[in-house]
Amino acid sequence: MGTSSPPVAVARWVVGQATRVLPPADRERYRREFVAELHGLSPAEQARYVAGLLSQVLALRAALGSSSGSREIPMGTTTRAPFRCRVLRMHRWTARGAPHHTHVRTCLRCGYEQGPFNTPDESPTRNYLTGI
Ligand SMILES: [Zn+2]
Repeated sequence: MGTSSPPVAVARWVVGQATRVLPPADRERYRREFVAELHGLSPAEQARYVAGLLSQVLALRAALGSSSGSREIPMGTTTRAPFRCRVLRMHRWTARGAPHHTHVRTCLRCGYEQGPFNTPDESPTRNYLTGI
């Protein structure tokens, strides 16, 4: 089955390096979480994931270190979506049909929905780095 590929070595290495900046109490937990999220991604998606991780890890460290009472990352929501959805906006889409030959996409992890789209290959995430 080609739907799940193990993390490539360099992606695991980058995750290990990135999490070294995090507080020791949180480092291992986040490293495990990030490596777990690499599973099932294609190598290209893993590269995108670790690139996003590198761009966000300092903000994550600041969030972890700035609050003595709460460990929650202030992202404006109480529902804890996965890091990949919440911070990197990399959703795991599943498409389903909608009326008038369109379809909508729903994230399997956080439930976020986009659409309807008229073509199956329309990509709402293509501008994920620049298109806020
Ligand atoms: Zn999502």
